[in-house]
Amino acid sequence: MPEEASSPELSGPREACGVIAAYSTTERVSHLLYFGLFALQHRGQESAGIATSNGETVTVFKDLGLVAQVFDEPALAGLDGHLGIGHTRYSTTGSTNWENAQPAHRQIGNTSVALGHNGNLTNTHKLALDLGVSDATTDSDLMAEGLARAIDDNRSDGRGLELALMEIAPTWEGAFSLVIMDQGRIVGLRDPHGFRPLCLGSLKSGGWVLASETAALDLVGADFVREVAAGEMVVIDASGPKSYYPFQAQDPGLCLFEFVYFARPDSQMYGRSIHGARGEMGRILSEQHPADADIVVPVPESGIPAAQGFAAASGIPYSDGLVKNRYVGRTFIEPSQMLRDHGIRLKLNPIPENLDGQRVVLVDDSIVRGSTTRKLVNMVREAGATEVHLRVSSPPYRWPCFYGMDTADRSTLIAADKSVEEIREHLGADSLGYLSIDGLLDATGVADAGFCTACLSGDYPTSVPENTDKFHLERS
Ligand code: AMP
Repeated sequence: MPEEASSPELSGPREACGVIAAYSTTERVSHLLYFGLFALQHRGQESAGIATSNGETVTVFKDLGLVAQVFDEPALAGLDGHLGIGHTRYSTTGSTNWENAQPAHRQIGNTSVALGHNGNLTNTHKLALDLGVSDATTDSDLMAEGLARAIDDNRSDGRGLELALMEIAPTWEGAFSLVIMDQGRIVGLRDPHGFRPLCLGSLKSGGWVLASETAALDLVGADFVREVAAGEMVVIDASGPKSYYPFQAQDPGLCLFEFVYFARPDSQMYGRSIHGARGEMGRILSEQHPADADIVVPVPESGIPAAQGFAAASGIPYSDGLVKNRYVGRTFIEPSQMLRDHGIRLKLNPIPENLDGQRVVLVDDSIVRGSTTRKLVNMVREAGATEVHLRVSSPPYRWPCFYGMDTADRSTLIAADKSVEEIREHLGADSLGYLSIDGLLDATGVADAGFCTACLSGDYPTSVPENTDKFHLERS
């Protein structure tokens, strides 16, 4: 089903994808990749896929849906081999259909290559022209095609994949954390800014893992080794990892929103616990925007650590006021009008006993379009709250993201052209306070490590695309 057809209540902004790769020296990897994808489900819920190799043949299995819907025992049994890659997808380029699910795959003579991508390229138009392809529907598909052709050019050399990547990767602009494989190797590759995360782990049972987040390493029995550096390519085969640097060095710029929203709280980035950083965001927020109130209530689950930090620092008691339905993710079924009117209650429902008669500090991590938040504020009031003081543990989201978050259309961003007071009025809150950019950077504990703040500051680390229509490849 094309993206546009999904329900606005249930689809909010999205971020592109979770990736994992494994090279085991002792066992088949299909189950390991499957469980690793579970740990990365939050990064993409539209489709899931795994490709494995037994040294001779690469097999790909992918479909629309959640990891648990896509794979069963027979599917995993058919994925033979001791190395492979996996992917969960949210689209930032192209529709939600089977063809656009990943891993993308190409066969070039005897070489079979598969690729999984987290991020978003900013020069797809030029790449499509240079390659002379008119049928690629996603940026990831263009990467697979370019890579296949570069492998073809380097076929006489046994290191075809590495050489091809050294040649082709510098032509890609924008955000890409990639896992790639051929019959005998896995590769992890990060763009020169390192917009999206990627880390390396060693399997306790022997071998190596690459994953978007450290939480996936925990689940598959791997020890964290280090992050793949911005601009680094790690190639892993039986002799272990080897590093290559295909790009001119750039300043690192990990997406700051990974700390705010995307990453799991039990992951670490830049050596810092995401949960710890989010608690600190709440603490600083309570200093920057104190509130006279009776209880601090998080918007679950994204607002919980910041609400805990806010409550601890302000001395205002923490209370559960909203319950999240854990089983509502992205749905492909459009709710009827009746359901749509109550759409938010599919996701969140209030606990009136806790809210009735209370002056509430409502804490969430971010406001992007404002549609969910507006309904939430109203819901908390209807449940009996006498005042709703909204506190947001990130700055106003004013600028479109071209690096992997589905917010390329600026007109959908509530803070794009409204002042904080106008936003407060629109949302119907008694007061509204956003964490400052400096406060947010301080809260990470690694402010100098290098972040992309484009969506909050308008400072883009690369040139941005002219065509921001996510379906432009399909339309052309
Ligand atoms: P809204 O008021 O419609 O902008 O929705 C705000 C909610 O969206 C907050 O609870 C955020 O945690 C959540 N949110 C932030 N970024 C994203 C994203 N990339 N995908 C889905 N939800 C998000």
